[in-house]
Amino acid sequence: MPTTATSQQTAVITGGAGFLGSHLTDRLLKEGIRVIAVDNLITGSLQNIAHLANHPDHSFIQHDVSNYISIDGPVDYVFNFDAAASPIDYLEMPIPTLKVGSLGTHNALGLAKAKGAVFLLASTSEIYGDPLVHPQTEDYWGNVNPIGPRGVYDEAKRFAEAMTMAYHRFHGVDTKIVRIFNTYGPRMRLNDGRVVPAFSSQAFRGEPLTIQGDGSQTRSFTYVADLIEGIWRLARSQEHEPVNIGNPHEMTIRQFAEEILKRIDTPSQMVFTPLPTDDPKQRRPDITKARRVLDWEPQVAFPEGISRTLTYFRDTLGDAARYPVRP
Ligand code: UDP
Repeated sequence: MPTTATSQQTAVITGGAGFLGSHLTDRLLKEGIRVIAVDNLITGSLQNIAHLANHPDHSFIQHDVSNYISIDGPVDYVFNFDAAASPIDYLEMPIPTLKVGSLGTHNALGLAKAKGAVFLLASTSEIYGDPLVHPQTEDYWGNVNPIGPRGVYDEAKRFAEAMTMAYHRFHGVDTKIVRIFNTYGPRMRLNDGRVVPAFSSQAFRGEPLTIQGDGSQTRSFTYVADLIEGIWRLARSQEHEPVNIGNPHEMTIRQFAEEILKRIDTPSQMVFTPLPTDDPKQRRPDITKARRVLDWEPQVAFPEGISRTLTYFRDTLGDAARYPVRP
């Protein structure tokens, strides 16, 4: 259980130098919580937490959570946010992806059990695979190809959910599971291959936007601040079964490319490349449950979120950003 209000709480964030882990860190520090970030820096980056280097409540441990996690002192929350969450990363690193989702989650659950901490698993809309139910509700079991190239990520996360529920039911650990839909915002890696940084950096450089397939597949993009708010509410809730957190604003990948071309003054055009195996055709969260149990819904609309994100990408690209954001 969390310690009393008089003593400062401590959170361990696995993947604490990643895109989501670092934003969650900022939020917890604002809440007055000490944060211990654990990250092996394979997809995370010290750049994401550089602004916290002298923060008295932040510390960093470089460690691969597929191996036993050792933390001194009391811990109130364990946030399990380590993952190679981009398709190109998990295609390149299939075995570490399976290990971090399975062994890493097991170790993080063991830590939460030993410390009596709340445990929150960062799960994913990939649980639903190429969904046959639309929009996706939490009670849909999904349509995942276990032996396809995405199976290494999807099945590891499905195992992680099963393991989390087992620790809850068998060991009585206070666990939560968030199913995260496509999230975007500052600190995404420009070269992580996902569609938001990919199209943005291509447009800034004047290169063609690589649409996979005919671009009719859909995604629903959530701005990172909205996601973090939902996660923080979930961490303090009494809900133990999975909750979708995502923005139901759905668009095709082609429409997304058009939005980027509208916002960046670039000569880039669209090119069409083969659709990756098992690429989900449609994805949109049903957030009825998040509204009901967390009183949460997204606040940042796409135009505002994408403009903040483009500013970040442009600044990160520096001189490589040959074309400007339109006024
Ligand atoms: N995509 C694309 N071009 C790219 C990268 C991605 O058309 O350069 C498509 C991809 O096929 C998928 C969607 O954009 O349909 C979202 O891909 P992403 O890798 O961002 O995440 P996913 O939702 O597939 O995990």
